[in-house]
Amino acid sequence: MENKIPMLCPDNECTGCSACINSCQFGAITTIQNEDGFYRPSIDADKCTGCHACERRCPILHPLKAQKSQLKVYATWHKDAATRMKSSSGGAFSALAEAILENGGMVMGAAYDEQLHIRHIAISSVEELDQLRRSKYAQSKIGQAFKEIKGYLADGKKVLFVGTPCQVAGLKAFLVKNYDNLFCCDFVCHGVPSSLFFEKYLQWLTSHIGKISSINFRDKRKGWYDSIRVATRVDGKQQILRGNKDSYWVGFNNHDNNLQLSCYNCQFLGLNRLADITIADFWGIGKNKPYGHKDEIEKGVSMVLVNNPQGQALFDLGKGRMHVFERDIDEVVSSNQAISHSSVKPPSRDTFYKDLFTGTFDSMISKYLTPTLKTRLVKIMREYLPYSIVSRIRLGGQR
Ligand SMILES: Cc1cc2nc3c(=O)[nH]c(=O)nc-3n(C[C@H](O)[C@H](O)[C@H](O)COP(=O)(O)OP(=O)(O)OC[C@H]3O[C@@H](n4cnc5c(N)ncnc54)[C@H](O)[C@@H]3O)c2cc1C
Repeated sequence: MENKIPMLCPDNECTGCSACINSCQFGAITTIQNEDGFYRPSIDADKCTGCHACERRCPILHPLKAQKSQLKVYATWHKDAATRMKSSSGGAFSALAEAILENGGMVMGAAYDEQLHIRHIAISSVEELDQLRRSKYAQSKIGQAFKEIKGYLADGKKVLFVGTPCQVAGLKAFLVKNYDNLFCCDFVCHGVPSSLFFEKYLQWLTSHIGKISSINFRDKRKGWYDSIRVATRVDGKQQILRGNKDSYWVGFNNHDNNLQLSCYNCQFLGLNRLADITIADFWGIGKNKPYGHKDEIEKGVSMVLVNNPQGQALFDLGKGRMHVFERDIDEVVSSNQAISHSSVKPPSRDTFYKDLFTGTFDSMISKYLTPTLKTRLVKIMREYLPYSIVSRIRLGGQR
């Protein structure tokens, strides 16, 4: 006989995709944070009827078959210079989202709320788009968002969902069947830190610079490869985050010691993807193959993989808003490790979160969040050498 209480995915393999939470018709599963601060499902035994729908929808326990991708590869950037500047890479996401919104559709992606918690929300107009724009480098809470999407799909609306590859897997597993009006977009992802790490950092930062209303991890005023972190305070003043104040980014971009455990063994990477379209930074564009738009590189270039006919339909809707150049997949693979490899778990990951909850943030900075020698060297070289040389000695860009 089956156990009444389902056995959900083990914590170290769970991605927090929330397919199980959305699959429960009895409201028996809610989102909690595990001891490292990652979002996880929690079952209320009193409400659980033992139907096991949650287990059946888990994309880790029951892997979905990734399609053999069609793999058209494009270098793109948004034709509107301001939109491109506001985006993490070339603004491909904005072009695709605008196309859906102007066709009466909905777009769901990650936004900050007033407390700077990151969660998935749906928008229906271009005026709201800036909330979703730009990478927020911590785990986003899905909550009941997949149920909301199912409602829009049933109403016949076009929906664009953007998230990590594991979140796209969660949505697909929850929905079970394909919908002609659903477009799924993931991005090349090397992993997510926990929301609690981000919160602890924000508390520390607030104590140094005052209350913050938003933080941009990819401000491109100094260029795309050299993007900087800029916090906006509640009084509207912007502050560039340097030295210790940039420690969250240093941890995320240089050390990989704060990622979700399942990210070190990601089940959703590679060239055969569940998403219809995949976006990323086109790091290394022009490195191995001639590229005629060198002066455009520093403003940001998006990489777009069209994975299947549904992805092609989405790309065709949005491509008029972008400059588009077809490229080779080898160029992407050689410069963006995360497309095909999980991040490597460093030994310091074992103690990172224990120390985060027992020590001060200052002690975390000195023990875990200082730039590596390699990063410091690259920074110095970028500052003092001419661009023509720097562009040749790049060590893979940022994330
Ligand atoms: C955690 C994380 C890790 C990444 N790692 C890499 C990497 O290793 N290599 C690489 O090339 N690119 C990586 N990216 C993607 C990259 O940062 C850009 O998001 C991508 O190039 C798209 O840029 P854009 O200019 O088209 O769109 P943008 O305007 O930057 O749009 C970003 C889109 O991502 C969604 N999003 C933002 N934050 C989150 C989040 N926390 N969770 C889920 N969805 C989110 C937004 O809703 C929006 O739809 C990562 C992104 C994230 C969030």
